[in-house]
Amino acid sequence: LRLVSVRKVYGSGDNAVTALAGVSLSLSAGTFTAVMGPSGSGKSTLLQCAAGLERPTEGQVFVDGTEMTGGGEKALTEFRRERIGFVFQQFNLLPTLTVLQNVTLPLKLAGRRVDRDRAVEILRRVGLGDRLERLPAELSGGQQQRVAIARALVTSPKVIFGDEPTGALDTRSAREVLALLRGAVHTYGQTVVMVTHDPVAAAHADSVLFLADGQIVGHLANPTAEAVA
Ligand code: ADP
Ligand code: ADP
Repeated sequence: LRLVSVRKVYGSGDNAVTALAGVSLSLSAGTFTAVMGPSGSGKSTLLQCAAGLERPTEGQVFVDGTEMTGGGEKALTEFRRERIGFVFQQFNLLPTLTVLQNVTLPLKLAGRRVDRDRAVEILRRVGLGDRLERLPAELSGGQQQRVAIARALVTSPKVIFGDEPTGALDTRSAREVLALLRGAVHTYGQTVVMVTHDPVAAAHADSVLFLADGQIVGHLANPTAEAVA
């Protein structure tokens, strides 16, 4: 994942807010990065621009060597569906779909074959092989977030973004979710970028990026990540 001089300004004129003031960074495939910083420092905006959910005002985002925002809206949406996974704080599962239907949905949206066996295999791997036909409301928060992770993994995305993915979870569920994200990185070579306020969650990452006032003010390697996990 590579960002080159990404600026994001919301609004215009007197109401303009510079959320990102020129961020450049390069994260290698197969790394797990936590993003920390005070409220309003631009963490969510960084994630949304990097994930193609928002367009930067200036600058470029490259995923796997391809400029994501090079084409129009349709191309951006397709790119996102093919190569990006996203996990939210509040899970964002579709309440009327079963666990299995939630997980196969990204394959449908990407125009791929709906590979039920693949979805079931990933749900087994996140420990939910016996909950396929349940509705999200019948699951605990930790289980719902594991469904959301399975949904993010089903297309084998190059990069998975998490916006406070453990923010609504108890300690034990948070640890399970972090272990799954680490597994995606270390077993499958995926790249994970996670915004978090929780130092315990950040300690699972290989490095921690610090933002303040829309700029990167530090990027520290975490030599003990393996031991924490
Ligand atoms: P963080 O995630 O670190 O709390 P954000 O990326 O949410 O920071 O916000 C960075 C700045 O951009 C803040 O000043 C915020 O108020 C502003 N901002 C974020 N989203 C919007 C928006 N949709 N419209 C206007 N301003 C926004
Ligand atoms: P393909 O994209 O050709 O299916 P992958 O290497 O992505 O090949 O996947 C190989 C197998 O591993 C698949 O059966 C898939 O279900 C599983 N898999 C891939 N990525 C993950 C992941 N991050 N977590 C769990 N299972 C995964």
